[in-house]
Amino acid sequence: MSVCDVCNKELAEKEGYLLTTEQAVSNPAYWKKALARPASIMLARVTSDESAKAQLASQMASQTAPWLVCDDCIGIFDVNRNETRQYALRWYDSHGTFSPPGSGAPSLSKAGSAELGAAAHYSAVLSLTSRRV
Ligand SMILES: [Zn+2]
Repeated sequence: MSVCDVCNKELAEKEGYLLTTEQAVSNPAYWKKALARPASIMLARVTSDESAKAQLASQMASQTAPWLVCDDCIGIFDVNRNETRQYALRWYDSHGTFSPPGSGAPSLSKAGSAELGAAAHYSAVLSLTSRRV
């Protein structure tokens, strides 16, 4: 059973959209949703260490497998829905071996900026979360 990489919802057979890591983590809206997860909130409570948070963010940003996103979550991404839907179908048909163009190992500079951007979003939203606690 596949699950949505944003909200962890179980997906029906061949449901969803396939995004590259870069498309997913370069979107601030993704981080807002990801940070609503219990695990993220817990992390915000147990650590005030900014470098630990940034490291976690860059780990999430550097995963190279494509991201499967459900109908509810695709709206937060600024991507072509027809195209990402087709990629998802190809991914299901290939039993998870298909990779959309631009995934896998992006150029170093691209990966670096995506990671830095993601880490910045993550730290910013986390500090908001911890202030509220
Ligand atoms: Zn979802």
